[in-house]
Amino acid sequence: MVEMKFICDRMLGKLATWLRISGYDTIYIGNLKKEDEDDFLLKNHLDRILLTKDRSLFRKSEKIGRSAFLIKSNDVADQMKELRTLNVKFQIVMDRCSVCNSLLRKPSEKEALEVLKELGLKEDMLERYELWFCESCKKLYWMGGHWINMVRFLKKVEE
Ligand SMILES: [Zn+2]
Repeated sequence: MVEMKFICDRMLGKLATWLRISGYDTIYIGNLKKEDEDDFLLKNHLDRILLTKDRSLFRKSEKIGRSAFLIKSNDVADQMKELRTLNVKFQIVMDRCSVCNSLLRKPSEKEALEVLKELGLKEDMLERYELWFCESCKKLYWMGGHWINMVRFLKKVEE
């Protein structure tokens, strides 16, 4: 089965982040800076499911056969529940950068130390945590306090 890919409209930035955290290849229109976003979303990235909060954009998509899914809730946890219909599974997989959608990899020691220094963090982070690295953003990920909050949030979504 081909993994589902998504493109999210401007209203769904948080949802796009959670899709990336869960390993889904997801474009967020807010990152692309297109003048006519509706027109762009209707005509481009047709291999992706368009996630939108805009009822009229959803109807237009249906009319031209562009695959799209209408999100109804304003709350990101509820939006994630709505995606159960598409069998989207939310979990922390560390495949993709939540900021830019690039694939993550393990950092070299040099890369990790550079970022830790920039952030003013201790070098022993290198031994204490498993680290992931985004080459495009030069961002490091690790299972810290933020991670625990994410796990708690996911539990709430699963209820
Ligand atoms: Zn990135």
